[in-house]
Amino acid sequence: MWNSLAFKLTVASVAIALVAVGTAAILINRATTRDFDRYLTHDQTMERMMSGGMMGGPTAQVRGVAEEQFLQRNRRALWTGGLVGSGVAILLGLALAGQIRGPLAKFSKASRQVAKGDFSQRVEGVSGGELGELATAFNLMTENLQQDEQRRQRLLADIAHELRTPLSVIQGNLEAMLDGVLEPDAAHLEALHRESGLLARIVRDLRDLTLAEAGQLRLERVPTDVEPLVAQEVARVEAEARDRGIALRSDLPVELPALDVDPDRARQVLGNLLSNALRYTPSGGSITIGARDDISDGLLTLYVADTGSGIAPGDLPHIFDHFYRADPSRQRASGGSGIGLAIVKQLVEAHGGRVWVESQLGKGSTFFISLPPVAGAEAESEDARRRLHSRAS
Ligand code: ADP
Repeated sequence: MWNSLAFKLTVASVAIALVAVGTAAILINRATTRDFDRYLTHDQTMERMMSGGMMGGPTAQVRGVAEEQFLQRNRRALWTGGLVGSGVAILLGLALAGQIRGPLAKFSKASRQVAKGDFSQRVEGVSGGELGELATAFNLMTENLQQDEQRRQRLLADIAHELRTPLSVIQGNLEAMLDGVLEPDAAHLEALHRESGLLARIVRDLRDLTLAEAGQLRLERVPTDVEPLVAQEVARVEAEARDRGIALRSDLPVELPALDVDPDRARQVLGNLLSNALRYTPSGGSITIGARDDISDGLLTLYVADTGSGIAPGDLPHIFDHFYRADPSRQRASGGSGIGLAIVKQLVEAHGGRVWVESQLGKGSTFFISLPPVAGAEAESEDARRRLHSRAS
């Protein structure tokens, strides 16, 4: 009760009213009495002088009954004013306190619920002024917390789902072998090995992803030439492309500036894009990995283009999300974990770069990544282009 805001506000406004009215009453009362007495003394002296009395002689009774009554009335009016002022101050204090106490009660109720983990709380019906601003900020905060929580829960469910599939395959096969139903021969062990490899890859990818999202991924950036980087990744998938009847080409300009990147991470990015291109391109198609020969916005752009299935416009905004698959059933079977592009995005952005895609359903997709070249490369690349230009003409 003593600590309540309503009590403090009421006491404060009554105190202000009492001090203001009390001080005014005392000062006015003193000044009125003094001036009134002075006026009466002056009047009586003049009367005595007129009737031939001595000047400056002793003063008789100054106030008569009528004068005393006048002063009494004056004092009463001042007291009445003081009491009315205090009454109004109490009412005002209570009304003001009520206006603040209502919203504050809503804030404290909602905050207690948020502290218990209920992020659906919103403060409604508080608008205008500082309290309105506070309500807007509070609601924005709980909305963000709620979205983060939903994202976290979805991610956990997705992770559990992704790990469950290879685990149950391994477990089922091992049980069948223990029961003697399945021969532990090379083919079956090979299948188990493949599933455990998939598990290991999901766990490694998830670790990379969470580190990158938390901004804790350590990048060992060194000047890295594009050409050997691309050549290594092309060599890695060359045999598979040949087996599947997919043409694989690289299309790099003659003089490219070195990139200021962590070569392992850059390889991981290109590798993920190439693996996807292979996964979603049918036999007879082609894949091109290349680079643009200019630096725009301080970044050099590489691309991986395929003539594969393409991506539907409705899926395009989501394909860099965790575990998003345009066609879940088909791609799970082909070994996709659904986090490859999320990792690409995080790794590229960790380098200060950008990633985007252009795609047409049924025609193919081109994934672009922009990465920073080493310092001063912009001027060098402009020079190189001019040299090439003058050689050609
Ligand atoms: P996944 O491991 O399932 O391929 P990604 O994160 O790498 O997961 O890709 C997310 C989704 O984006 C894929 O499931 C697929 O639907 C789509 N996608 C990625 N790359 C391509 C591509 N080159 N062509 C067509 N669709 C693609």
